[in-house]
This record gives sequence, structure tokens and C-alpha cells, in this order.
Amino acid sequence: MAAKTLGYRVVVYDETRDGPAVSCADLAIIARFDDPVALERFANEVDVVTVEFENIPLSVLEFLEKRKPVRPSSSVVHICQDRVQEKRFLLSIGIPVAPFRVITSAGELGRALMELGQPSILKTAALGYDGKGQIRLDPGDDTTSPWEELSAPIAVLEQRMDFESEASVICARSVVGETRCFPVQSNIHRDGILDVTTVPSRLPKPVEDRVLEIASEIAEKLGVIGLITVEFFVLADGGVVVNELAPRPHNSGHHTLETVMTSQFAQHVRAVCGLPLGAVSLRSPGVMVNLLGDLWNQGEPDWMPLLRQSDLFLHLYGKKGAKSGRKMGHFTLLGEGMSASKLALGLRSLVNT
Ligand code: ATP
Ligand code: MG
Repeated sequence: MAAKTLGYRVVVYDETRDGPAVSCADLAIIARFDDPVALERFANEVDVVTVEFENIPLSVLEFLEKRKPVRPSSSVVHICQDRVQEKRFLLSIGIPVAPFRVITSAGELGRALMELGQPSILKTAALGYDGKGQIRLDPGDDTTSPWEELSAPIAVLEQRMDFESEASVICARSVVGETRCFPVQSNIHRDGILDVTTVPSRLPKPVEDRVLEIASEIAEKLGVIGLITVEFFVLADGGVVVNELAPRPHNSGHHTLETVMTSQFAQHVRAVCGLPLGAVSLRSPGVMVNLLGDLWNQGEPDWMPLLRQSDLFLHLYGKKGAKSGRKMGHFTLLGEGMSASKLALGLRSLVNT
């Protein structure tokens, strides 16, 4: 939608016709990711390729990269689709991450759990999202059944951080190497899934400065073209640790559609199309609240309480099948502080009562 606003023609490649982006495409190519004929056709139709999520097989991006610019590049996506690569990259540029061990067997898991000596989280190295592919463990726990349950060839065991809060920064980097960070966002997760994001973050200025600096550094060292989202844990002493990276528009940046001069989607399009980056100053404080499939338990929710509210922007993604925990939409309420957050959560609770 952001690309079309700038007058571009949009071609969507997806494995399923139900993909939400298909409904706004000028041309949709529906084929398996490993279909070379369809990929060739796609490459012939476009001037530049970008990705909407990072779990696209690397071979697909490499195939396309031989034909058209892929932004972000396959090497950036490769780092971000694998937690082991991601952590090694961050450590190599001197950025702190939670203490972790790479795990390939139940035995290794048992030893690592004792070594870390703290409550920990076992995460699949690849293909996890919204807290899926994660198991919480304590030292001394049995490790055979969690390892089997995870059913992944490689995982990481991370120390569970006793953080004060979570934050994220979305940084854009252009074709000519200019970087620009969106305002710092405060995030609250529930059951491993993003629940609420607020801007401004209300974090102390030195913490904001530090996370902005880290995000710019990551964007530069990765050499990303497009967006890189950096998720942080903020510790009680004001220290910060990077949780993970995403090389794309991010759920915690959805509020930028209404709160920032240039939305994250428009910025992504500008970056990958070789345009100058847009302004990222805050137009209004805001609270973004996710709408998960659980709200559909008793059928389609009643959107009237949200639609009647001035300064509230409702976004529904048109996904089929409202499964529990599935992100079906979100809304952004303009306003600042605890009162805006309370009002936003109160309004959400009204839609399925
Ligand atoms: P997404 O891609 O949707 O952000 P994900 O499945 O990749 O999700 P993570 O970001 O790794 O998941 O974790 C989701 C949430 O779980 C974090 O935002 C945080 O609230 C909690 N969490 C993850 N790792 C840790 C940790 N090491 N210590 C404490 N909490 C954690
Ligand atoms: Mg995350």
C-alpha cells in the first residue's frame, strides 16, 4: 500500500492466495518458493525485490539476486533468520546479548542449563515468531522431553533476563548509506507476543541515546538497505541488551502510520527504491494495541467502541482464520502517558463483550 501511494506497480510473490498483500497487488504470482519458472517470471516483472518477512529460503533470495537488486540482501536476511548467526554477528561488533549457548542435543542442553545456572529460554535457531518455538527451563529440569518437543536441529539456550522493560528501534538505511532511526518505542509482551507499544518511550534520555546509537551501528555494520528493527531488553541499571533483529517493518512500528511524519512502510519503500529517506519526527504520541485471534472466540468482534473513538485508527488485516494468538489487526490511539494506555486497553476489552 505504501509503494502504491508513491505510484509504484507492486508484484507480490507468495505461496498462498490468502496472503494479505495479494489483495493490494497489481500482479500476484502464487507459486512455491522452490519453483524456478515462477521465480524467473517474478524477476522479469520487477525492478527491485524486497521481503515482507525473513523466513524465505535463502536459495530464493540468491536466485533473485542474480537477476535484480534484492534489498535487504540475502546475506542480511541470512543473519536475521538464524538466531545463532544473529548473536555471533552482534558479538562480533561488540554489542551485548543475553548469555547463551548453541544447542544440538538433549545432552548439550542439560550441560548448558547447568552452566548458565539461571532460568533460561530454549529457542529454535530458525523459524520462530510470536514466542513460538520457545520453551522456558530452570537449571536441573529434565531436558529430554523439551528437546524432543522443540523438534529443531539447532537451538539456542538464552539466560532469561530480569529486564525492567522492553524497547525497540527501527532504523532505515538508504542505498547511499544514510541511516535514520524512528523514535524509540516501549513494548509490552504477553505470552511472548507483542501486546502494546507506546511512543514516546518514556525511557531515560541516556537509555534512549544508547539504543538509538546501537541501532544505527547495527544498520551500518550490516550494510542493510531497507529497515532493520532492533529489539532490546532494558535492565534495572539502565544497561541494554539486544534481544533480536528483524530486517523489515515491525509490529512495534505499526503506530508510525499515524504518529510519525513518514511511516515505517513508506520509509522501507523509499530505502529499497533508492529514494531519499523521509522525516521521522513524531507527529503525535500514541499507543498501539494488538488484536489477536482470541478476540474472535465468540465470532466477529463488535468494532463500534473503537470506531466511535476519535483519534483511534483501526487496522484489520483481512486474514482468514482467527486462531488463538494470531495477529489479526491492531489499533493506534493518539495520546500520551498512562491515561492513553489505560483508555486503549479498556477499549480493546469492549470489543468482545
Ligand atoms: P517475535 O519475532 O514476534 O518478536 P520471537 O518468537 O522471535 O518473537 P523473541 O523476541 O525471542 O521471540 O521473544 C519474545 C518475547 O519473549 C520477548 O520480547 C520477551 O518478552 C520474552 N523473552 C525472550 N527471550 C527472553 C530472555 N532471554 N529473557 C527474558 N525474556 C525473554
Ligand atoms: Mg521478538
